[in-house]
Amino acid sequence: MSLQTINDFSIQKTEKSKIDSIDFENVKFGTVFSDHMLVCHYKDGAWGQVEIKPYGPMQFEPSSNVFHYGQAIFEGMKAYKDDNDDVWLFRPRENWERFNKSAERLAMPQIDETRFVDGLKTLLQLDRDWVQKGKGNALYIRPFMIGTHPGVVAGPSSEFMFCIILSPARTYYSGKVKVQIAEHYSRAANGGVGYTKCSGNYAGQFYPTKLAQEAGYQQVIWTDDATHTKLEEAGTMNVFFRINDTLITAPTSERILDGVTRKSLLDIAKSKGLDVQVKSIVVNDLLEAIKKGELKEIFGAGTAVTIGQIEGFAYQDEYHQLPEIADEDSYAVMLKETLQGIQTKAIEDTFNWTE
Ligand code: PMP
Repeated sequence: MSLQTINDFSIQKTEKSKIDSIDFENVKFGTVFSDHMLVCHYKDGAWGQVEIKPYGPMQFEPSSNVFHYGQAIFEGMKAYKDDNDDVWLFRPRENWERFNKSAERLAMPQIDETRFVDGLKTLLQLDRDWVQKGKGNALYIRPFMIGTHPGVVAGPSSEFMFCIILSPARTYYSGKVKVQIAEHYSRAANGGVGYTKCSGNYAGQFYPTKLAQEAGYQQVIWTDDATHTKLEEAGTMNVFFRINDTLITAPTSERILDGVTRKSLLDIAKSKGLDVQVKSIVVNDLLEAIKKGELKEIFGAGTAVTIGQIEGFAYQDEYHQLPEIADEDSYAVMLKETLQGIQTKAIEDTFNWTE
């Protein structure tokens, strides 16, 4: 049993669970929410009591900071259930620390580990039936914080709400995707907020991603804003390249999110004896490698899909298809199986990542 209940939180249970009305087999990602949520308010320089209560609508003043100046940050993580019905979190303290990094950059207050991690565990304890067993099943966890102080004065809010909601998720095999390398738009710049999970980062990606989709690509590979040559992220995932038998990913920076999946895959790859290099990779490296037949795989890495394989990329209106690779020869497939195995306790967690 991995979770524990903390008693000095206020807990109000729902009178009627919605769980029997949910078709877990066909649930669409991010559309269904569990019975309970966690809410905590920050006022007069301090966080108040953690409240766990039925999931439902909230009321805010129309002049609240978040609606005008966008003080809003979030996290994305998952809970998994093993064959013995125990519920496990994967490296939740990494998300807590990253949340606080985002909070600092957005001039929002830090939140303590008790409210974030123990609060989450208490919430999960209550909604543990919402975590489905079986390969690819999980309960997606969305912690977020918004500026709630009313008034349209352009400055940081003095009041905030921290909240956690839970949504059942299945990772299904959606096929390999085609991507477009960004030549004009950027998701991040030096000195900006690219390394944070602030909401505006994501809103800013919707339009260029829509244009890429209209051109026939599912995702954008983001490049550095100054030269548009360094390959940095794929959609909302970190990105890996395999050239011959070397696995390459860019170092994290002010422009790149420090993904929990990325850092876990790097450790797994090293433990399997793979040649791993954390270095910047530029478009010309990719074009040269594909010309020589040395570009074997490209994949994105993130909590939502674990690993998303990429079948080809477009650059300057030319599309480049990667060669076919059998599952048994694919680093992406091997790393995904290993990481998902650790997350669901099917493979021994020698890294001590689950709790
Ligand atoms: N990059 C971006 C921009 C993201 O939004 C995410 C998803 N959080 C990631 C990378 C992957 O991070 P993680 O592995 O922690 O989910």
